[in-house]
Amino acid sequence: MSKYIATRALRGATGLVREADEMLTKAIAEKGPETPVVFPNTAYFLPTILGLTGREIETLGDLVPLLERAKSLLHPVPPASLWKPYLGETLDAGVATLLAAEAIEGVRFVNGVQPELFPGFEMGGATEYPHLEEGHLNGPIDDIQLRSWGIQLVDGRMPGFAAIVGCAKNNKVAVQIVRELQQRSILIFLAGNVNGRSIIHQLQEEGVEMGYDTYIVPFGTDTLSAIYAIGFATRAALTFGGMKGGQPRNIFLYNKFRVFAFVLALGEVDDLKYAAAAGAISYGFPVIADTVIPEILPTGVTRYEHVISMPFDEIEADDDLDRARKLVQKAIEVRGLKLQITEVPVPVPYGSAFEGEVVRKNDMRIEFGGKYSRAFEYLYMTEMDKVEDGKIEIVGAGFDDVPDKGAMDLGIVIRVAGRKMQMDFEPVLERQVHYFINGASGIQHIGQRDITWIRISKNAVEKGFDLNHFGEILIARFHADFGAIVDKIEVTIYTEPKLVEEWLATARKAYDYRNRRLADLTDEAVDDFYSCTLCQSFAPDHVCVVTPQRLGLCGAYNWLDCKASFQINPTGPNQPIPKGTCIDPVKGYWTGSTEFTRKASHGTVEDVTMYSIMENPMTACGCFECIVMLIPEANGVMVVSREDVSMTPAGMTFSTLAGMAGGGLQTPGVMGIGKYYLTSPKFISADGGFKRIVWMSSFLKESMAEEFKAVAEREGVPDLLDRIADETDCTEVDGLLEFLAEKEHPAMTMDVMF
Ligand code: SF4
Ligand code: ZN
Repeated sequence: MSKYIATRALRGATGLVREADEMLTKAIAEKGPETPVVFPNTAYFLPTILGLTGREIETLGDLVPLLERAKSLLHPVPPASLWKPYLGETLDAGVATLLAAEAIEGVRFVNGVQPELFPGFEMGGATEYPHLEEGHLNGPIDDIQLRSWGIQLVDGRMPGFAAIVGCAKNNKVAVQIVRELQQRSILIFLAGNVNGRSIIHQLQEEGVEMGYDTYIVPFGTDTLSAIYAIGFATRAALTFGGMKGGQPRNIFLYNKFRVFAFVLALGEVDDLKYAAAAGAISYGFPVIADTVIPEILPTGVTRYEHVISMPFDEIEADDDLDRARKLVQKAIEVRGLKLQITEVPVPVPYGSAFEGEVVRKNDMRIEFGGKYSRAFEYLYMTEMDKVEDGKIEIVGAGFDDVPDKGAMDLGIVIRVAGRKMQMDFEPVLERQVHYFINGASGIQHIGQRDITWIRISKNAVEKGFDLNHFGEILIARFHADFGAIVDKIEVTIYTEPKLVEEWLATARKAYDYRNRRLADLTDEAVDDFYSCTLCQSFAPDHVCVVTPQRLGLCGAYNWLDCKASFQINPTGPNQPIPKGTCIDPVKGYWTGSTEFTRKASHGTVEDVTMYSIMENPMTACGCFECIVMLIPEANGVMVVSREDVSMTPAGMTFSTLAGMAGGGLQTPGVMGIGKYYLTSPKFISADGGFKRIVWMSSFLKESMAEEFKAVAEREGVPDLLDRIADETDCTEVDGLLEFLAEKEHPAMTMDVMF
């Protein structure tokens, strides 16, 4: 049977390599071999080629020997009499296909044809979009997005990805398939077509929101663009698995065991799709087709079956939607994805893939908070016998009488009790309300505390979504996710304006108390720091030491979060680190943190400081929100944020710097941090603190203006922010020095930093 696949894959691969060859020859003739070839917003060159061959493709000319290599992988399929059921030739053809496909995409970027976007199509995330030919949408996933999904892949929120190629039986089936995947937080990559029609068109027609925020990335309507899914998988291995380019075996194994991905081939499978499928199989990604194709069942390269055929109309089910459901279930089963789904009793789809959904004014039925009404949420602990578990109460009118697109006051008050609950966990839990409520499709939640702003879409209301469901969501999710500390929970929803007012006052007192508590929570005031080793599955030697005044570098875990997480999962990645003896209070050496780091980094890190970038700085995995780096000429540091794509005075962009800062190694003068560490009095306090910042991405300056103003005052230089340069002032050292001299930046007269 697999001889058939081998023959067709080889035919597809041969055709594609030839096409690549012709395109390249033409491009070189027109533009010259020195013409640069780059994918935008990534530091991994052409990532699949880099990963599988170690070649850093920088010019059209570099692609010539690469294609020779691809050709050498095209072995003729032996005649039937000599045929052995061995996958080798097929896999080689698959690899040749991947190399050729990426080469073609590289050449297409050089050709820079204008993008032909679908009308009304919005792409998520990236600030710049590649210019591509018609049929191409997203292009490569940028490094920022890769890292941010990386965290979710590490902590299990995102189990893996599904690459869907082709076109579903009909639009409804297409929607059902992606909803099933979204509800399981599986990332969805879309590519390909059948007779010109793509699942991307189908979703577009049904008004499904596509983009990074909804976990649906439409790469393009041709088969070739599926290469970006493979590029993503390759970069995951390079970024998080610490692999190097040219280690195909390691990259394949990493993906086989760590990245739970599969291919759903919808509709007819042509030669090129067979060839691409062979490439996917090399990565350990099984292919599930909804048509009749020969299966490859032995479990060698993939952990499970390689190719599964599940003809759509033959799936035993009540109707097409049910068939779609079963198809997705089968794919998940074949790949062996471990999924925990919390059943949330709401009449709309639910899952973290819906967290980023936006409800626009036009689609909105009602809003709470924002400009026209007040809304807040407040969670507090109380005694066991004061909470009636599972109770939801609405106090005041529903929104039936509020006009369409109107606004209404809302207070969500959550009472919890639990034997392991502590007052310190109240804010940790309260912050979850944002994620939990946002998980419902058609509901948008922004802000927290008394700046909460919630919108419910018309669509959700038509499906029956009601105030009551806020309670249902919160109760289901708190029990599921925080069952270890929350035994009982009840929710009261206030809409009665007078009661909203009263409870708001109570809530504000609590917010205030919590703020003061946080300000008092200094590194000196506690006995334990916390570790975070969550990222070790990607960066095996990295450990974050999280202190009250220094949060984890991803920005997602502060000291209280870690403390709560330890209660929830006592053998998990967040362990208390008894501080032990303080060796040096200025640089921040404690016997406890040093010992812990030495052990948890498997001896890679000998010694670690909490407050210095120059001496034994803390290591970084790859998730950092910002990079801090010494600029020796300026006697200070620059801070570059992940959002900033511009050049920096260090002569490198964020993505290039990220390669130096990550990987769990200590590099004095370079450090990855969470952006809120910048506001801490302990921010590189051993080296002079915030006043050392001479250059900072404007994104940070703007988005944290309030916080930095307070810091500048605390540091005794109220106009400090104006004296710090950003990328609009200068992007090289000479300009920076001029700027600093003119502004009389304090770093110019501080002690020499190194
Ligand atoms: Fe990773 Fe550190 Fe964030 Fe933990 S705190 S998830 S180790 S970056
Ligand atoms: Zn990390």
